Amino acid sequence: MNTEKILVTSALPYANGPIHLGHLAGAYLPADIYVRYQRLKGKDIVYVCGSDEHGVAITITADKENKKPKEIIDRFHNQNLDSFRKFGMSFDIYSRTSTQVHHKTAREFFTAFYEAGLFREKNTLQLFDEKANKFLPDRYVEGICPNCGFEGARGDECENCSANYEQTALINPKSKLTGETPVLRESYHWFFPLDEFQKRLEEYVETASKKYHWKENVLNQVKSWFKDGLKERSVTRDLDWGVSLPLEEAKGKVLYVWFEAVLGYISATKELFESRGEPEKWKEYWQNPDTRYLAFIGKDNIVFHTIIFPAMLMAWNDNRPDQYILPENVPANEYLIFEGRKFSKSRGWGVYVGEFLEKFPADPLRYCLAANSPETKDASFYWKEFQMRNNSELADILGNFINRTLTFTSKNFEGAVPEAGKLEEIDREFIEIISKTPEIAGNLFEQYKVKDALTELMNLARAGNKYFNDSEPWKSVRTDKERCATTINLCIQAIYSLAILFEPVLPFSSERLLKILNAEKKGWDEASKLNLAAGHKLGKAEILFGKIEDKVIDEEIARFTEEPAAENVKLIEYDDFAKIDLRVAEIYSAERIKKSEKLLKLQVRIGKEKRQVVAGIAKFYDPETLVGKKIIIVANLKPAKLFGLESQGMVLAAEDSQGKLQLVELSPDTETSARVK
Ligand SMILES: [Zn+2]
Repeated sequence: MNTEKILVTSALPYANGPIHLGHLAGAYLPADIYVRYQRLKGKDIVYVCGSDEHGVAITITADKENKKPKEIIDRFHNQNLDSFRKFGMSFDIYSRTSTQVHHKTAREFFTAFYEAGLFREKNTLQLFDEKANKFLPDRYVEGICPNCGFEGARGDECENCSANYEQTALINPKSKLTGETPVLRESYHWFFPLDEFQKRLEEYVETASKKYHWKENVLNQVKSWFKDGLKERSVTRDLDWGVSLPLEEAKGKVLYVWFEAVLGYISATKELFESRGEPEKWKEYWQNPDTRYLAFIGKDNIVFHTIIFPAMLMAWNDNRPDQYILPENVPANEYLIFEGRKFSKSRGWGVYVGEFLEKFPADPLRYCLAANSPETKDASFYWKEFQMRNNSELADILGNFINRTLTFTSKNFEGAVPEAGKLEEIDREFIEIISKTPEIAGNLFEQYKVKDALTELMNLARAGNKYFNDSEPWKSVRTDKERCATTINLCIQAIYSLAILFEPVLPFSSERLLKILNAEKKGWDEASKLNLAAGHKLGKAEILFGKIEDKVIDEEIARFTEEPAAENVKLIEYDDFAKIDLRVAEIYSAERIKKSEKLLKLQVRIGKEKRQVVAGIAKFYDPETLVGKKIIIVANLKPAKLFGLESQGMVLAAEDSQGKLQLVELSPDTETSARVK
């Protein structure tokens, strides 16, 4: 019999900061649960991940701390590896993209495309710092936002108004390296023609998504990329940190991190089998049409795993004899936020995994994140919910069932499994639940429905408590010892099943429980049976889940409840406010702007006057729904140019904690041009 092969990857975390709870809930815990489940099912599975260690953010951190990039990546690679280990992530390998094998793999892909003449090559204009003798990546330039006039806007995006633009559109740009005004210089680059792959990618997504039931949230995002039309992407950039190119004429250039980071999955798999002394075996996973490949990611990575990486693999397959497989599914989660707001460690909002695990064990965190997983929509971590799930579910339901059974066994049956007697209806019903749970929960894990699977598993523990209560062994122990023995036998059998079935979610507790039961780990399907023979001697009982007190949780809550939003408020004079001319305007036309994900072009009326306003609300509104709305605009803002369009004013919008913008709207009978004071 041929064992089914499965290849699982989790998005490579960026080695430029510590991972927080939101990361775990997105790409890591769901994958780890899936992998552990499939291992119990006896599948031949390989699970790879590693640190993404290139890119300009790392050199910026290094510059800021006056360190070498290598020191930055070493620090965060080791820190994140340690957090993952303590959290119980069961990677077969956690590699890094700074390894030799990765650089080699990435260059091989570049070379294959280069030799096939796939790249478009052209000169682009870029800002160049003459003093530092360097081209400036977007993040190395600062200037005045061409949209709103905000000073200190980044090279590609304005923090103040969220406009996107080319770095050459920035007004009065300054190099962050030297403070000098950069000059425009031509630079030669290679572009991947993603547009040429659109049709084949659409076919791939269409087929795979139907066959393997892709998640709705993933499919919606992919379709919107297709709708906008795929565009060529630059593969190279002028930077000295990264994978250098195998071309003499490309000195001082490295592969763009989007191009090489996804290849890290392949490099890591090569490294894994190299270390096992089977250097060719990685091909059995990556280049075997019978292997199932699943790429677990958070929603910010959907485009890279459903469009870009598949396109690169297609391009390889077009030009080389060895053929890669494409992901069968990309089960991306939505975001986990923290106490109702976006994680932002710079504003003191959220918890790093390392910090968390210094205070609390991993399993209750795994359980809480899994039970409240952002599978189809954003979810929030709340400390109170963490406490509740630990105390009322893990301790009071699962822990209680285990503890009362084992204490009773130790007291009345000398700590050994008693022999079951004649079965009654109540016993048969309980056995039925034990025998069905693995299949029901397993099917849900197969479909990445962790929350539902967890409910089924907890229901088995609930059924155990009910069976224990209804059977009243504390009475039958005096009146009918055989009846009592039957009850306890079945309760211990159920606990053994629970130890196996909870292993994917609670690996540490499962291991301890098996020790308490003095029993071996068995396969998933075995959990449907009554496995322990009468007379089997149990180990020493101990409490699996301690309760978390209010005091402890209140301390955690107190740590971040100081409102950070108001800390930078500066008071102004009334005269300052009076300088702003706010007017009611009516939108009579709205349309998307090509090449911009964020901006809409609005035509508005203020009384008889017509104006064009460019607004950063494209992510939140369909243009069609805006026509006729009465809004407020800043009417005396200096006009600015954006994407070649003049913007004659600014609309007022409220930004919530998750960055979502909502226009300030007035009732339809408000007169346009009315002054807002
Ligand atoms: Zn701006």
